Amino acid sequence: MSLSSSFARRLVPFTPPSFIPPSALATAPASYLPLCNLPTPIHRLPSPSSISSLVPSLLVKRDDATGGTELGGNKLRKLEFLLAAAISEGADTVVTIGGIQSNHCRATACAARAAGLDAHLILRCLDPSSDVASAPSLGNLLFSRSAGAVLHTVSKEEYGRHGSTKLVDAVCETLRGEGLSPYAIPVGGSNALGTWGYVRAAAEFRAQAESDPELASVKHVVFATGSGGTAAGLAIGISLAWARAGEEPPKLYAVGVCDTPDYFYKFQGAILAEMGFFESADEAEAHLRRVLVIMNGRGRGYAVSTDAECEFISAYAKRSGLFLDSVYTGKVLYKFCSEVEEGRVVVGEGEDVMFWHTGGAIGGYAEPRLAGGFEKERRLEL
Ligand SMILES: *Cc1c(COP(=O)(O)O)cnc(C)c1O
Repeated sequence: MSLSSSFARRLVPFTPPSFIPPSALATAPASYLPLCNLPTPIHRLPSPSSISSLVPSLLVKRDDATGGTELGGNKLRKLEFLLAAAISEGADTVVTIGGIQSNHCRATACAARAAGLDAHLILRCLDPSSDVASAPSLGNLLFSRSAGAVLHTVSKEEYGRHGSTKLVDAVCETLRGEGLSPYAIPVGGSNALGTWGYVRAAAEFRAQAESDPELASVKHVVFATGSGGTAAGLAIGISLAWARAGEEPPKLYAVGVCDTPDYFYKFQGAILAEMGFFESADEAEAHLRRVLVIMNGRGRGYAVSTDAECEFISAYAKRSGLFLDSVYTGKVLYKFCSEVEEGRVVVGEGEDVMFWHTGGAIGGYAEPRLAGGFEKERRLEL
């Protein structure tokens, strides 16, 4: 291993996992940019109190710890492939898009900087003329701005009218006009290339399961789905890895935080077909419907939380020491626990649930309800 002085500056040849079929090998990326601390650990923690009588503990795959504070979370695994492609193509700038508190935009800005690239971020705001100015260091904005990213704000209406692809293309076009070489990264890094990051993550989990007998009890794996790549990569990777070993794979549950399950099955099916795992998007979708249960955990809306969700997150932090964010991981575990409580998901005796923690803590700065009440605050007087 070389020293940290070469961090994020050197492409490494990618060896696809042994379970990848020839049709997908043909699309596998040639190289990646090492950005993550891998493998991420798997910790055993108490389960949320609402399900503790049915599921005493929870295994947590710590993808919140893929990188340091500014890089951590699931997006870094996708960026290893996306930024490698940007560098291989000779780009000097990356352009991507997301919500104002997008973890993906923040991780992209910081990873791009580490890799010697500039970043332009298109951020969807309630009020594009004042949202950033009124809280310039709030949560993810602190890190994106510190890394020197250029921020372009758009309204929800503009975002909906043009669509994310067109907005990214428009900024790329402008940058080309200025003599730059931009590389476009879609929302959440969820295209065929970025999704290889989570196929690789599935191979990592398989290797951990083979070397740690305690993980043989993992029969349920739960994760968030937002832009779709994480769930698509894990679903195909885990189903193929376990099939190759001749074992029944764990049941997989993706909880959607923004769109409907039907939307996600279609979108993720299209990604997997493009990656060469299936001949058509329909075939890919049918496979996903067999191996992955997609639930709707959107609640009041993307990045909008109910008091019940916030109370769940704050109670779980007080019980376990684990921080869940309000946009993704908190909604996901809240939804999954309610399914267990209501008997729609059955966890058998001796079976373990593994929650794949995808990060997002920095976005929590924008949700004051997560801290819970102030009953523990005292004025110290000597
Ligand atoms: C983006 C994100 C997700 C969703 O992953 P996708 O690959 O976009 O579906 C989950 N958790 C966190 C914290 C995220 O930032």
